[in-house]
Amino acid sequence: MQLSIFPGNAARRSAPWLRELLAGAAGTLAFTLALVLPLYAAPPSNPARSASHPVPGLNGERAMVFARSAASFGPRPSGSPAIEGLRRFILRELRGNGIPVEEQRFTARTPAGDVPMVNLIARIPGNSGQRILLTGHYDTKRIQGIQFVGANDGGSSTALLLELATVLSKRKGATGSGPEIWIVFFDGEEAVGDWSETDSLYGSRHLASQMEREGRLRSIRALINLDMIGDRDLNLVLEYNSTAALRNLAVEVAAAQGHPDLFDRHLSAIEDDHIPFAKLNVPVLNLIDFSYGPRHAWWHSEADTIDKLSPASFGIVGNLVLEIVDRLSR
Ligand SMILES: [Zn+2]
Repeated sequence: MQLSIFPGNAARRSAPWLRELLAGAAGTLAFTLALVLPLYAAPPSNPARSASHPVPGLNGERAMVFARSAASFGPRPSGSPAIEGLRRFILRELRGNGIPVEEQRFTARTPAGDVPMVNLIARIPGNSGQRILLTGHYDTKRIQGIQFVGANDGGSSTALLLELATVLSKRKGATGSGPEIWIVFFDGEEAVGDWSETDSLYGSRHLASQMEREGRLRSIRALINLDMIGDRDLNLVLEYNSTAALRNLAVEVAAAQGHPDLFDRHLSAIEDDHIPFAKLNVPVLNLIDFSYGPRHAWWHSEADTIDKLSPASFGIVGNLVLEIVDRLSR
């Protein structure tokens, strides 16, 4: 994913590590300039609302095991034998739980040539005619010279999607009358070279344009994208490119679940797998922790390893997603 920096005021309001980067130490990070935004406070939680209870069944420890398994495949950029190994692992887990999965194969034109990629789409039935998409990426960024295993960046989204699929498939009775739930593992989120509109988000761009061609976008009640949500020091971006109603709902649900400070107080814009759908007016929500390690130093580094993650973080984000899905299904 990529952070879009708001020049001017936003820089002052950003985290210290970000201010230092903006001050000129950006290094190889390419930032996209966007709008100057006023400071948006997160909406206050409703004190009259009693704390809701986490949906039973979501298991942060099990998600942690999935993340460990994903990282154990090593660096797994699109088109590599390692990502093929992880793909087989994901398929085995899902199909072992009786969840049907489609392998959506396509060829991505990248700066490094054509790369074969595969989105995995698991479907949990629902008969309301609507769909909720829970998405994330399972590839890791190809970074020369280091052993980048992406426990959080690539691993955590893979892991929590697997756990959510397991839980939601067992609650079929509850969702049978609601929306169909798609759990989508995107390939090719990461740029092959430097991040750009054409070198990034290959899997999500492919699915969005396919659904547009087939006239299926309007059936999507919401797309909730997960990225880097395993950080043991968890705080989520109040994400500008997300649909305001869904962003507000997420903040409200987090507060009701006992996490009033889960989200940042100011907005930051992130380019991630929700963007191709947002551009086509699909309601989207991006849940991402983009403050990873001291001054964000663990992002895209060898330090992105399993010891930086915690089962508690998976539990918090997983239960947040389940409650949002429940509310959107009513
Ligand atoms: Zn990344």
